[in-house]
Amino acid sequence: MSKINILALSTEGLRSFLEQMGEKPYRAEQILAWLYHKGAQSWEEMTDLPKALRKILSESADTGLLHPSRKQTSTDKTEKYLVALADGQAVETVILPYDIGTSACISTQVGCKMGCVFCASGMPGFIRNLSAAEIMAQVLLVKNRLLQCGRELKSFVLMGSGEPLDNYEAIVEFLGAVQDRERLGMSLRHVTLSTSGLAPKILSLAGLGRPLNLAVSLNAPNNALRDRLMPVNRAYPLEQLLPACDEYAKKTGRRVTYEYILLQNLNDQAEHAMQLAALLMNRLAHVNLIPFNAVPELGLKPSPRNVVNEFAGILKKKMINVTVRRRLGADIDAACGQLRNNLLG
Ligand code: SF4
Repeated sequence: MSKINILALSTEGLRSFLEQMGEKPYRAEQILAWLYHKGAQSWEEMTDLPKALRKILSESADTGLLHPSRKQTSTDKTEKYLVALADGQAVETVILPYDIGTSACISTQVGCKMGCVFCASGMPGFIRNLSAAEIMAQVLLVKNRLLQCGRELKSFVLMGSGEPLDNYEAIVEFLGAVQDRERLGMSLRHVTLSTSGLAPKILSLAGLGRPLNLAVSLNAPNNALRDRLMPVNRAYPLEQLLPACDEYAKKTGRRVTYEYILLQNLNDQAEHAMQLAALLMNRLAHVNLIPFNAVPELGLKPSPRNVVNEFAGILKKKMINVTVRRRLGADIDAACGQLRNNLLG
């Protein structure tokens, strides 16, 4: 008989599971505290549970925690993990040591369908969706690693491999577990979902009215160029995507971040900056310029620093909020998907 995955259960679900075994429902709170906050890796470590219960649990339930099969550490202390999944697949999870607090980048699918030309994650194609429990297990892996050295996870982004909104039901279930006080108990103000721009799903997410931060991977200021860089734009062009983002900002009160990866001689010219400013003027928007982490197989190059600065300068002059993301992990397989591709092919 296959074991039940505890991370896949709601708090209520865990209580009934325990009740069915003749246990007191308050044991659920103890188990959840161990799994989500006290860094336990096994039933044996949950020392305030009776020994007999620990034995029954080890026979009938799986903690759902995942473990890394590989780790790379950058000189700037970025840590990239290849996380092994139960079916032999693997995804990347990254710990990002920003000055304002430690963040993490979490994957939502194995591979991706979206085919963005600058992305290593999409190179193997789409393999499968991650479950809400597998997404949470990555967050806990990071939390536990940080706990071991007295650090805290301040925020995280759903921006690893995969398009989160293409795995919508699992994401909504996962966000419920993030907000649940008995489980992760973290405000969605510290969580960012990054999408390539699935406009109808952005509207669904807006309808939930939760204070989740939305980041849209924009990367081009017009449809012709965006069609080339991101095939998803052919299904949901800018005139559909931007109103959906406006609706998101209106419903949630959260400013939308537009991510723009600067690619040399492709989308980094002054005219592109001017077009981008015109597109975002009068919108509740913030632009995050992202220096590209080169992927040799893709044949694309990062824009030189002076071009990045000029691009940012034009946006600032046009009164658009803009930041340039600090480049982390440049000396390891930094681009999302690279570590997995290099190891698993
Ligand atoms: S950038 Fe995101 S949406 Fe695009 S192919 Fe990569 S993982 Fe998929």
